[in-house]
Amino acid sequence: MGLVWQKQPTQFVGALWPRSHRASNYKSGVGYIDTYLDLIKGEKLPISFMMSTPASSLITKDGAVVGVKASGPDGKDYTLYASKGVILATGGFSANVKMRNQYDEIWDNKLDNQVKTTNMPAITGDGINMAVKAGAGLKDMGYIQLLPTTDPATGATNHKIVESTNIYVNKQGNRFVNEQGRRDVLAKAALAQPDHVFYVIGTEQTLLKDKEGRGPYGILISDLLKQKKAFKANTLDELAKKLGMNPDNLKRTVAKWNEFCKTQKGDEFGRMSCEEGNKLPGGPYYASVMTPSVHHTMGGVTIDEDTRVLDKKGRPIRGLYAAGEITGGIHGTNRVGCNAVPDALIFGTIAGREVGK
Ligand SMILES: Cc1cc2nc3c(=O)[nH]c(=O)nc-3n(C[C@H](O)[C@H](O)[C@H](O)COP(=O)(O)OP(=O)(O)OC[C@H]3O[C@@H](n4cnc5c(N)ncnc54)[C@H](O)[C@@H]3O)c2cc1C
Repeated sequence: MGLVWQKQPTQFVGALWPRSHRASNYKSGVGYIDTYLDLIKGEKLPISFMMSTPASSLITKDGAVVGVKASGPDGKDYTLYASKGVILATGGFSANVKMRNQYDEIWDNKLDNQVKTTNMPAITGDGINMAVKAGAGLKDMGYIQLLPTTDPATGATNHKIVESTNIYVNKQGNRFVNEQGRRDVLAKAALAQPDHVFYVIGTEQTLLKDKEGRGPYGILISDLLKQKKAFKANTLDELAKKLGMNPDNLKRTVAKWNEFCKTQKGDEFGRMSCEEGNKLPGGPYYASVMTPSVHHTMGGVTIDEDTRVLDKKGRPIRGLYAAGEITGGIHGTNRVGCNAVPDALIFGTIAGREVGK
């Protein structure tokens, strides 16, 4: 359809082995949007968009959902009727602090304002709350995922410059976890470190840099260095100084790591392997600063295999469908990286087919 995939899979943070293909002609999820917009334009599909027009409630009649109420950027209210059904696709609730703490069963109700999110501010669970008012049942609401490797200042992920399977070092200069572990394991380990902060360490040879000097999400690495989201140093002593950590600890940590990379045996945190891109043979060294942020909510409205929203007794609510992160029960307690977009695309396709019947 337009996205071109890299042949070689990469090991995204929290994956236990390389299982994800990056797009080679796009640097972010914008590629999906562009591809679908091109398709809609190319095939002249009769689809229209109402931007900045949040839906506020569902309209019901005789127990069936028949439309939505929304308000536009001009302050105008809209009442939209849907003769065949309404599909909710408003995402999860990572940006809704109240809901995070209301439902959380994993993070001891500590997901307050101090904990950032990787999501846009609009991802506040609106669709879930509208569906509940229409009688929907919920599933797995307590399972909230933190992404371990995000920018402490913003929660964004776009300052990445080396693979997330490189070593993680805390403010004392020590490793603290098997970096190839699950997301929930990594996030819990990171939250136990001083200031909840750690650094991913790489070298010039393994820097994820394109010809223009941009990182994997399109930002100039020179800008990340200026903003102190990333750090560069010729020696480990210099790097430790820049990061404010004990140089002897850092040197000992890297020496131990390099020894493991040689023997591939006996890692103190149970790593199975050190890959070529994880080795730290010598400077210049790079580090990017990381902390966990709220990333994905695995809970949401209950649906059946036809994406019909179910009520608390498991009966379909007539006229109401849902797909994507708004739904619960698809991913268990810990979504595997790169399974969310397929979730949204596959169940979105099913929902479209069902409503179009
Ligand atoms: C930084 C980041 C990186 C990610 N990387 C990956 C990855 O590599 N692979 C992967 O599989 N997953 C990834 N994910 C997860 C994945 O992107 C999401 O789970 C997925 O986009 C959810 O799709 P969705 O269509 O259900 O909801 P969203 O993509 O969240 O879209 C919901 C839409 O609904 C709109 N909306 C919200 N409330 C209302 C309302 N009241 N009225 C009208 N509209 C409303 C929002 O503005 C938004 O446009 C990533 C997520 C983030 C944040």
